[in-house]
Amino acid sequence: MNSKNAGKLLGLVLFCAQPVLSDVYKPEALTSGRADTSMHLQQGSNQTEAQKINEVIYKATGFGNTFMVVTDEGNVIVDTSLPTMAPLHKKLLTAVSDGPIHSIIITHGHGDHTGGVALWRQPDTKVIAQENAVEFLRYQKRLKRLFMLRNSAQFGFDQVEDLPSTSSQNSGADMVPNTLFDQQLNFTLGKQQFEILHTPAETHDALTLWMPQYKAAFVGDLFYRSFPNIYTLRGTKPRWALDYIASINRVLALEPELLLPSHGEPIVGNKNIRTAMLRYRDAIQYVHDQTVLGMNQGRDVYSLMREITLPPALDIGEAYGWVSWSVRGIYEGYMGWFDGEPVNMYAQSPQSIYKDLVKLSGGAGKVIDLAQQTLAAGDSVKALLLIEAALDAEPENQAVLAMRLEILTALRQASGNLNESGWLNHGIKQTKQILGD
Ligand SMILES: [Zn+2]
Repeated sequence: MNSKNAGKLLGLVLFCAQPVLSDVYKPEALTSGRADTSMHLQQGSNQTEAQKINEVIYKATGFGNTFMVVTDEGNVIVDTSLPTMAPLHKKLLTAVSDGPIHSIIITHGHGDHTGGVALWRQPDTKVIAQENAVEFLRYQKRLKRLFMLRNSAQFGFDQVEDLPSTSSQNSGADMVPNTLFDQQLNFTLGKQQFEILHTPAETHDALTLWMPQYKAAFVGDLFYRSFPNIYTLRGTKPRWALDYIASINRVLALEPELLLPSHGEPIVGNKNIRTAMLRYRDAIQYVHDQTVLGMNQGRDVYSLMREITLPPALDIGEAYGWVSWSVRGIYEGYMGWFDGEPVNMYAQSPQSIYKDLVKLSGGAGKVIDLAQQTLAAGDSVKALLLIEAALDAEPENQAVLAMRLEILTALRQASGNLNESGWLNHGIKQTKQILGD
C-alpha cells in the first residue's frame, strides 16, 4: 500500500485508536525515530490465516481486528477494520467458514471498525449498533473535511486530493446500521447466545458483545495496553472518563475469562483480565480525580497538564494516549474553553501580539538567540514557543525555520508516543517544505 493510496482510502474513514503491540510500534522504536507512524495502519497485512481463539471464535488482525463467530445458522462478524484491511480479513475469515453473514456488530462508529461493513454485508444481514451511533455518524460526516485533514497529519499519510466541500452540511450520514438498541440486545443463533451491552467510553455508542457460554467479552476500544486517548489530537467531542470506569466495571462484573479487544491481542483468564483492566480503570480514575481536585482548587489547565502523572503502581504507559492531553480533555470537557481571565473573553489570541513583542525585542535574531539558550538548557517546548513567535513576525526567515526544524526534530527523537510523533513528523515535513528541502 503506497502512502498515496493509503491517503485516498483512509481519508474516507475516521480513526480512533491504536495500541502499541507489535515490535514495530514499541515506544523504544518510536524514540529511535525508526518507526513511521503510518506503518501501524498496515499492521496485520502479512498474516496468511485467521487466528483461532476457540471452537467458534476467529480473529483477523489489523489496525482494527475483525472477529467472526461461526454458528450452524450463519456467522456473526464483530467489527470490520479499515477499508484497506477489510478485503484481507474477509478472505482469511471466509476461508474458515463461508456461511451466510447473519449479523455485523459494530462496537462503535469509528472508521477502523466500520470500514468493511459494505464488504461483508449481505441483503439479509443485520448491522447492529447502539442507538447513539446515529448521531455519532452524523457528527463525523458533518466535520468530514476537517477530520480528513487532521487524520492525514496525525497518521502520516499524504493529504487526500479529493477533499469534500467546505460547506457546513448537516445532512445525515449514510446509515450503516439497520438494527439499533438502547441498553441491551440479546439473541440466540445456532445455539450460541449473544448479549450486546451499551458500554460507552471512547464514544457514546460503544458496546460490548458478551457470549456467556464462553465468558467472552468483545470490548471494542474499551481497553488498550496504554493510557487511552481521553482526548485525541485529531479532534473529538469530550470523552467522559467516568463512562470508561462504569463500562469497565460492567464488563468486570460479568467475570470474563476471555477479553477480546478490537486493538491488540486477547487476554485469557479472569485473573489476568482483572489485573489488566483494574489497573487501567484505576489509572483513568486517578487522572480524573486529580484533575477535578485541581479544578476545584482553582488551578489552571496547563499546571495540571504538567503536574498530574501516573503513580508507579498505575503507570500503564503512554505510548498511545497521553495523560496530559487527557487532563486537558477532562478539564475542558467539564468547563469548556473559558479560563476565567477577562482577556480571554475576546476574539484576539495571545499570538496576535507576537509581532509587536518580537519587534520590541530587537527582531527575530534576538529571539533565536534566546531560543537556542532555552533549548541548550533542556526546555525544548519553551524554545519552540519562542520560535513560533519569531516565525509569526518573520514567516520566511530561514534561520527561524531552521531553528524550528531543529527543535521539532529533537522533540521527535525524544518521543515515545505515537500521536505526538505523528504531529511532530507533520511539523517537520511542513517546515522542510517551506525551507525548500
Ligand atoms: Zn478503534
